[in-house]
Amino acid sequence: MRLLFHLVALLLVTTPCLGWGGDGHRIIGTIASSDLTPATAAAVRELLGDQTLADACCWADEIRSDHRYDWIKPLHYINLPREATAVDMQRDGANGQQVVAGIERFRAVLSDTSRPREERLEALRLVLHLVGDLHQPLHVSYAVDLGGNRLSVTSFGKRSNLHRVWDTDLIQRRLKDTTGGWATMSADLRQAITPEQRAAWRAGRDPVRWADESFAITRRLYAEPPDAQEGVNEAYWVKWMPTVAERLQAAGVRLAAVLNAALDPEAGQVVKPSGAKVP
Ligand SMILES: [Zn+2]
Repeated sequence: MRLLFHLVALLLVTTPCLGWGGDGHRIIGTIASSDLTPATAAAVRELLGDQTLADACCWADEIRSDHRYDWIKPLHYINLPREATAVDMQRDGANGQQVVAGIERFRAVLSDTSRPREERLEALRLVLHLVGDLHQPLHVSYAVDLGGNRLSVTSFGKRSNLHRVWDTDLIQRRLKDTTGGWATMSADLRQAITPEQRAAWRAGRDPVRWADESFAITRRLYAEPPDAQEGVNEAYWVKWMPTVAERLQAAGVRLAAVLNAALDPEAGQVVKPSGAKVP
């Protein structure tokens, strides 16, 4: 029994993360939380109970070893063919088993107050997580190497892979220089968002467009790989950290917009489903 416990504990610790690591998801949730309308914030609070919004963003990764939730696994990402230049939902739709459809599906459940509370809570946790995942470029990537998971690379002197570099390593490198951890980094990133960026991110409501942005970055990541000798080093971090930061910022602002539209009837009314821009 004791051995079993240790084995399970080990499994929980070493399970690779699908999506931004915990810090990335918490940063996105924290950026989003300051953009919620009072009505949305109250609705989120009521659904989550004691769980913080930042923690709720990580739920979909934490339940990955629970086989009751195996159905969620394909919803963290979307695969494209190697020759693709953009997302094509006809070709890449995978019968709805991908992250773009996941976001659409769960935001509909979340906004439907006739659904049972447990169902809406699960939908909220999935929306919180999947909007984040869709902004991690390598979640819009290739099946052949599992979105870079099979691309081994040295990262700051340690064994890693390209996917993990983008989930975790680049953020951890920045956190090394940040007193106060992810909470400080969230506040710093939020304050650095310009009014123009916020307006543009709020106006674009189509997750397919967010996927296209991620895929454009993914194509560059394959065209401009880490240094052949050193792998991911300071130069790679300096080059790509602004992109990481912008994806976290965009995800946070868009997540708030999705939640406001789903949970605040008044916010929902001013934003037309067509994506019409409303100040
Ligand atoms: Zn994920």
